[in-house]
Amino acid sequence: MSSIKAPRGVRDILPAESWKWAHVFKVSSEVARNFGYREIHLPVFEHTELFSRGVGETTDVVEKEMYTFTDRGGRSITLRPELSASMVRSYLENGMARQQQPVKLWSAGPMFRYERPQKGRYRQFWQLDFEAIGLQNPHVDVEVIDLSLEIFRRLGLRGLEVKINSVGCPVCRPAYRDVIRDFLKPHLGRLCSSCQDRYDRNPLRILDCKNPECKALTEDAPRTLDHLCDECREHFEGVEKGLRLLDVEFSIDKRLVRGLDYYTKTAYEVLSGDLGAQNAVCGGGRYDNLAEAIGGKPTPGVGFAAGVERIVLTMEQQGCDFGPQPAIDVYVASAGDESRTRAFEVLQMLRRAGFSSDMDFQNRSLKAQFKTANNTGADYVCVIGDEELQSKTVTLKDMESGEQQSLTMEETLEFLEKARV
Ligand code: AMP
Repeated sequence: MSSIKAPRGVRDILPAESWKWAHVFKVSSEVARNFGYREIHLPVFEHTELFSRGVGETTDVVEKEMYTFTDRGGRSITLRPELSASMVRSYLENGMARQQQPVKLWSAGPMFRYERPQKGRYRQFWQLDFEAIGLQNPHVDVEVIDLSLEIFRRLGLRGLEVKINSVGCPVCRPAYRDVIRDFLKPHLGRLCSSCQDRYDRNPLRILDCKNPECKALTEDAPRTLDHLCDECREHFEGVEKGLRLLDVEFSIDKRLVRGLDYYTKTAYEVLSGDLGAQNAVCGGGRYDNLAEAIGGKPTPGVGFAAGVERIVLTMEQQGCDFGPQPAIDVYVASAGDESRTRAFEVLQMLRRAGFSSDMDFQNRSLKAQFKTANNTGADYVCVIGDEELQSKTVTLKDMESGEQQSLTMEETLEFLEKARV
């Protein structure tokens, strides 16, 4: 074993698992196409300012969790902790406001947060991220929620819970903040130390604190929904109506305030009972103030991010189908130096014809080669020995039926082509 190990909180996604991830990405990209979202690849690091301004100085992500360093040019750089800020930066920087609105983008990739690692929570984790930028229409919020659920439905996930809330906007939130402060004032001394800290700077965050005492103290806290301005209330009603129209089951969760400051109006989360403490599979909402916060023109937007590790974990827990495991079509087996050379040629012909194929490069016995063929799930073994060399043929063995036939290479390719499913 190497004495250098991977850092705490990161994981190698080994081949035994990566094929499951490939299935999640494939289904996501199909759903993206269905819903008119186009894929975008964004940088893994950005100027620190993008996140401190776009995510919010008082959030846990910015205060405690960012991987920030000074590069060799003296710039402060941060490994992205999330994607919405980069998406909006790219929208602004590339003049996407001139395109048909909303601009619908999706991306998948690793995010970085210095959090305490535990099951389902890592320091490098992957997200599927979908964003619709440029419109305020509540139907766009509904489309985003429905899109996330469509991905989960096609992956076969069951028993997911959809929770929604509205976090208001700069018009109604300040007054609601005061209402929450007034409500909590008599209990201030009993809140956990983080929440005492949040009381002045970001009191809404106290509502989603996981500390049991804070939870109990906020049980009867006033709901944001009772303190929305007319515009936010109308928007929320539009979202509720749209979700009912599409038969999406949901419940309202007044504790759903999201950790990020730029969220306005709709906030939502999808939870799985099969995940334990880290039970959020996906979270999202509207962020109409993000573009301005990062120095752009006011631009509304709505989106979600879903955690790939948590999707795969939930699918495994629920015994969901990941599709067929990648297997070899044809394993080329040979005995003797000369036939090995011929086998190498045959291997190339098979690959060029589009069959996934492999062979042994260790001069192992035929028996050992057949064993590998079995382990790799090969449908056929193509055997080349002295006899085959002489007659310029190969022996093709069907691994399921055990039947074998002697064929020229041309006939082999023709036969495999017909057998291809
Ligand atoms: P957030 O950007 O915090 O709203 O997170 C969106 C989704 O990303 C969550 O619902 C999780 O599925 C996933 N996620 C967030 N943080 C982590 C983490 N540290 N490790 C694994 N998945 C995460």
